[in-house]
This record gives sequence, structure tokens and C-alpha cells, in this order.
Amino acid sequence: MSDSEWTPSSWKAKPVAQPVNYPNAKHLSSVLGKINALPPLVTPSEIERLRYQLSAVERNEAFLLHAGDCAESFDACTHQNISNKIGLILSFSLILIWGARLPVVRIGRIAGQYAKPRSSGTEKIGGREVLSFRGDNVNGLDIDDRTPDPERLLRAYFHSTTTLNYVRGLLTSGFASLHHRHPRDWSLSHVRSPSLRSEFENIAEGLADALDFSSTIGVDSGKGNVPFERGGGKGVLGEVDFYTSHEGLMLDYEQALTREFPAEGGSSRKEKAHYNTSAHFLWIGDRTRQLDGAHVEYFRGIRNPIGVKVGPSMQDEELVRLLDVLNPDKESGRITLITRYGAGKIDSHLAGHIKAVRASGHPVVWICDPMHGNTLTSATGLKTRHFGTIISEITSCLRIHSEQHSRLGGVSLEFTGELTDDGFSVTECLGGSMELAEEELGLRYQSFCDPRLNFEQSLDVAFMISNHFKE
Ligand code: PEP
Ligand code: MN
Repeated sequence: MSDSEWTPSSWKAKPVAQPVNYPNAKHLSSVLGKINALPPLVTPSEIERLRYQLSAVERNEAFLLHAGDCAESFDACTHQNISNKIGLILSFSLILIWGARLPVVRIGRIAGQYAKPRSSGTEKIGGREVLSFRGDNVNGLDIDDRTPDPERLLRAYFHSTTTLNYVRGLLTSGFASLHHRHPRDWSLSHVRSPSLRSEFENIAEGLADALDFSSTIGVDSGKGNVPFERGGGKGVLGEVDFYTSHEGLMLDYEQALTREFPAEGGSSRKEKAHYNTSAHFLWIGDRTRQLDGAHVEYFRGIRNPIGVKVGPSMQDEELVRLLDVLNPDKESGRITLITRYGAGKIDSHLAGHIKAVRASGHPVVWICDPMHGNTLTSATGLKTRHFGTIISEITSCLRIHSEQHSRLGGVSLEFTGELTDDGFSVTECLGGSMELAEEELGLRYQSFCDPRLNFEQSLDVAFMISNHFKE
């Protein structure tokens, strides 16, 4: 299977999970032709730099933060939302750097995270059976706008470039050191428990002092980046390293942005390589990772570092076969396994997966996604997650890796720094130091997809992981 010739379109000969049926094939192909002619969003050297940095995570020399919205929407592509999101990712990573004393590799679920896998092709809304909403790059949330429209792929391309352009602008203009929320500006008044609040305040105060000190003596440029052999201390998108990612679900779109360039990686046997230039990092979702399926076929041929979601249905030997197909040369920095079992299931699966991967000799980065195995529906019918369950999966994950003499290399989170018009955080996940109660969920529930941790709940997670590494 994996030995046959790979091309950017060889996936078309395989079964496609989560297919989208466009009513007009000609229209689709003319849009894809247009996208194929448009410039790349990211460059091979940025992609290679991320591969290099992920190999540092593999060697325990850095920690990976993968985070952002479950799905972006075209309407949420605003100045405020993007800067709040980047600000939260930077604040979160500062806390991790402080606790773990390690550089943090930051990959946003941003600038292209539009498509969503769905458990069913149709859904019933208000007594009507309609096609499911598949993300802004496929169809509309409005129930009268559910027919897949190829023009949405083009709009996704332009929304991605606009987002990325603004992120690049922010990060080359001092946002990372100046304008996002400084630890002294973190309001910790939401923390209900006084002892927890004083613990957080101590960390924030120490962090603020350290930042002030390093900026006074002029050593803050490029801090927190993984040292890189080429390109020096400056980050890939400005003063800090920041990378983009999305689930590689819509293969037509991914193919249109796949371009052949001279291979830049030292270890590659080939002179040329295919780079997916729509994002630095792409992942295969838990619903599209079939060994003989189209997604695995497409992913095996691109040079980007890739993620694979690993849920409770993954068998030990299936995981190893997947790694054999996706990384036959066992190259370092290529594969990140994103485990998402659920707090109640992780104990029955993770240790077996770690043992099988170790025995296979495959190098991987292990990261914990404590979100996707822990979704529930509240009494009022809202999709939510409990902060305690999220922490429980992370804690079990840390413990099991340590029992297996392995190491948790990072986390994958759905969070948002988004504020409502009147300046409040969203209310989508239960609990946390603000002790968000079930009856408060409806107050500012803004996600049209999975529930996200808000700014305060996200910092809670950061403090918890940071404390773990300090001990
Ligand atoms: C996601 O990351 O938003 C997602 C759908 O995850 P999974 O494929 O693990 O269910
Ligand atoms: Mn999600």
C-alpha cells in the first residue's frame, strides 16, 4: 500500500472519510485551479524550522503548546479576536517557560482551522432534517445555507492569509514583549479560593519581575525560543516563534496548496519535497485516520511535521502500522501523537500505546489533548466540558508517561481569549478557579463548535502544568 507512487492527488484512489458532495464538480475544479495558482501561506524554511524544533521537544529540550479554537469562523476573523488569541497563547507559554524552565514551541489552531468532521452527515433542527454544518469553508451555519459551496474554499484561503498577515504583523511589532497582557495585568480576582489566588499571584509576580529584569538588561529578544542552528535567536514570525496549524480534512484544498520545492531538511534522501504550504503543521483527525484511507495516503507524502489524533479505538499494532506508513524512515520531528482518550479511559489505553511505539523504534512527540474525550451535554442542552475532568486527564497523562519512563512533550487545548462586547470572558466550560456553574453556561456561550476554556480557565491549566514541572 504505502510503497506505491505518491503524488499530491494519489489520495483520490482511496476511500475518503467525511466526504463533501459538491453539487457542481466544474465549479469546484475552477476554484481549486484558482487556489493552486495563489501564493503559499507559509514557506519550506519555516516548516523545516518547526520540524527541527519538534525534534527538540522529542529530546526533552522544549515543550509544545498546541492551542486555539475548535473551529475558526469567517465572522470571528477580527483584529480583537486574533490579538486576544495570540495574547493568551503567549501568556500561557510564559507560565510554562517559567515553570518548566524550557522553551515552548507554540502552534496555534489558527489561520485555516475552518473544516469540522461530523458524526453524522445530516442533523435535525427545528423538525427539519438538514445537511450538517461542516465548517465555514464548506457550508453555512444558517440552516438555509447548508449546500456545500466551493467559493467558501477560496474565502477560507483569503481569511487564512488575512489572519496570518495580522499575526505576522503583531509579532514583528513588539506585541510579544509589550502589548499582550503583562503578568502584572492578569486580573486574578476571579480565583475564588484565597489560597489558590495567592499561589497564582506569587507566580505572576515572579514572572513579572523576571520579565522586567530581562528587558532592563536587554536580553529579552527571542527568549523562550528553541535555539535554532539556522536563523539565530529571532522567531519564525517575529520576535517569538509561532506556527499555524489545522486539521487536514479537506483534501482538495490541501492538495491545491501542496507545492514541490527543493528539500531543505538535512536528513531527507530526496532532492525535492512536497510541502503543504497552507500551514506549518497539519493533523489527521480521529475520524479520518484509517490506514487504507485517503487522508493517511495524502499525509504520508508531505514533508510538514504532522499530528495524529489517537483515541480509545486505536489498537496498539494499528498505531505502529500507521507510524510505519507516515514515517517510514523514522525521522525525528515528523510525528506528534495527540492522545485524546477521556479522563475515564486513559488508564486503559495510554500505557499500551507508549509500549508499542517504543518497541517499534519510532521517534514521536507525545502530547495530551484533554478536551475531545471529555465532552458532555449539560442539563440545558449545551455542549460543555468540566475543568476537573480536563485536569484529571492531564494529570493521569503525566503520571502514566512517568511510570512508563516516557515523557509528555506538550498539550493540545481548545481555548479562547475572546471577550464579549462588554468585556467578559466566554462561559463554555464548567469549573476552574472561577468555579463556573452549570446555570452560568448560557450567559456568554459563543462557540458554534466545541466548548473552549476561557482566559481565566486557561491560565489555571498553565499554572497547574507549570507547578508540576517545578516540583
Ligand atoms: C478537534 O481537534 O477539534 C477534533 C475534532 O478532534 P478529534 O479528531 O480528536 O475528535
Ligand atoms: Mn474540537
